[in-house]
Formats: sequence, C-alpha cells, structure tokens
Amino acid sequence: MVTAPLPADPGLRVAFEEALAGYREGGLPIGAALVHRGEVIARGRNRRVQDGNPILHAEMSCFQNAGRLPSSVYREATLYSTLSPCYMCSGAALLFGVPRMVVGESRTILAADDWLRTRGMTVTVADDPACYELLQRFIAEKPEIWAEDIGDAGTGQKYDQPHRGT
Ligand SMILES: [Zn+2]
Repeated sequence: MVTAPLPADPGLRVAFEEALAGYREGGLPIGAALVHRGEVIARGRNRRVQDGNPILHAEMSCFQNAGRLPSSVYREATLYSTLSPCYMCSGAALLFGVPRMVVGESRTILAADDWLRTRGMTVTVADDPACYELLQRFIAEKPEIWAEDIGDAGTGQKYDQPHRGT
C-alpha cells in the first residue's frame, strides 16, 4: 500500500493503521488515536464516505469511540492524527482539555497546528512519510472526495497552505 516504513511511534502507528483501514474501505485515509499514560484508549478513522457523515473526521471518530471520559483522563492524554487537524477537531481537543497532539504530517495541508499552539497545546509534527504517502495516493485517486472533505479549503485559501494533492 505504501513504500515508506510504518510509523515508529506506537500512537502514530495505531493512527496510521486506522488510516489504512479507511483506505481499504474506500474512505479518506486519515486516522487518529487517543493515548493515556502510554496506552491507546481509543482509535478512529475518518468515516465521511463509510457512514455518509461529514463530521466524523478521524479525531471526532476517535473521541466518539472513546465514549465518556473524565476530564482528568483528557488532561493526561495525547491525541494523535495522521494529518494536520482541522478547526472542528482542534476545537474538540481544546474543549476536552487535551494538552498534546502529535500530527503525522502537515505537508498535505496545514490547518490548525499554530492555532492550537496559541491556545496552549503542545503540537508536534512527525512529518511521517507513510502518512503522507497514503493520503497523497488517495488524493491522486479520488480528488473529488478529498476536496469535499476539506470543504475545498485548499483552493479556497482558508488554510495556510494549499493542498498539493493534484
Ligand atoms: Zn477534522
């Protein structure tokens, strides 16, 4: 599926596995994981195509799968996503008080990374080649679904960096 090695970070590895599962389902290959004290406590993937649900981005799906958590857990958690988070997902992470995020890559699109930093979150970008390669492959294959998911942000200049997928 991809030629790049799998992510070494266990949290990002799980997020990537979710992205890969999404790709195999014909959906957007973007995955997420929530890690608490070194344990993956939830995982999710973008379900726009699979469920016909535009708000189930990978991170939202991950939060949904996590169910109700006490704020004490969120405060010690790290959110992983294979792609730079949009403002919806970033808003959810801030709402729940998650202090850290690891982003697989911000090359395809650079969305709310800096906004999260201004709100006190620690955002680390792994620039992972497998995350990038998988999403680029999908964008080349299904550019219309990618454009749909990001609300054409890449061409609408809503984000800091246009997507390079096509
Ligand atoms: Zn999102």
